[in-house]
Amino acid sequence: MKPVIGITSSFVPNAQTISLHTSYLNAITRAGGLPFVVPAGLSPENADQILAKVDGLLFSGGADIDPQLFNQNPHPLLGEVSPERDRIELPLMRAAVEKDVPVLGVCRGAQLLNVALGGTLYQDLGREVSGSIKHVQKAPMYHASHSISIMEDSKLARLLGVSEIRVNSFHHQSIKNVAPGLNVSATAPDGIVEAVESSTGKAFVMGVQWHPEAMIDKVEAFLGVFEGFLKAARAS
Ligand code: MN
Repeated sequence: MKPVIGITSSFVPNAQTISLHTSYLNAITRAGGLPFVVPAGLSPENADQILAKVDGLLFSGGADIDPQLFNQNPHPLLGEVSPERDRIELPLMRAAVEKDVPVLGVCRGAQLLNVALGGTLYQDLGREVSGSIKHVQKAPMYHASHSISIMEDSKLARLLGVSEIRVNSFHHQSIKNVAPGLNVSATAPDGIVEAVESSTGKAFVMGVQWHPEAMIDKVEAFLGVFEGFLKAARAS
């Protein structure tokens, strides 16, 4: 049996639909998993039952995290938020980490991981971090724009097999104060956090600020992130 990976989806208010880029499905499939979509908009009490059905959870990219979730008021440059996503994803993330269900957060998912465990975000890093480089690239998703440095001895370094690599970048928010239980495992040249992972020996808790799922055809190393995730899911 393949490990079942629940993948969170976006909510499109005007069309009243959910959506998920197929690159997530492809990445999980290529790494040996069976992807299932977790619908945005579910009420929080479903979190435990979803967890009981999956071997791992992938929190996908999308709208900004509502700053209310880390006790801040909205910055003027805050983008679109998604209460439909937050209401199910926040309890799902907390329960998954608590129950040691493997978790991979991508972009928004990495930020959600940090906020769920008590961290904070820059609501708009271009305005809030002086000297920051461009993190919202105007190039296709498969294109690597900026470099990241990967911490020695991190799980991410073991999965990628390198200490420096170029990634794509589609975020104007980023992790500010790192949550208890997480370590920074990669940073951009401007110091922006590009990856975090569990500091407490959890099976697999990782957040990446870029979109490795969109690059696996161009950069083989990025499939390693999903293979490491699936290995943990198989063991859980
Ligand atoms: Mn970036």
